[in-house]
Amino acid sequence: MRQGRCPGCGASEIYEVEAPSRAGGHLMLRLQDTHMHKSFPLQTLVCTECGRIQQRLSLNEKQKGHLMRALGRKIT
Ligand SMILES: [Zn+2]
Repeated sequence: MRQGRCPGCGASEIYEVEAPSRAGGHLMLRLQDTHMHKSFPLQTLVCTECGRIQQRLSLNEKQKGHLMRALGRKIT
């Protein structure tokens, strides 16, 4: 969807929406080493044709470092 096309219906009506941080705009994760909770910002894209949404973490370098400390089991 980041390329501007919906993988579900093929429409090109993809928009970025701003979700409030307490309503899905952030992902809260626990750091494995300190057990502290950290908030990670999400980018939310929506297809106005079929309603599909896609979210991805939108991280700077510092937040990437925090994310590495929050990772659990690797899925293989
Ligand atoms: Zn769609």
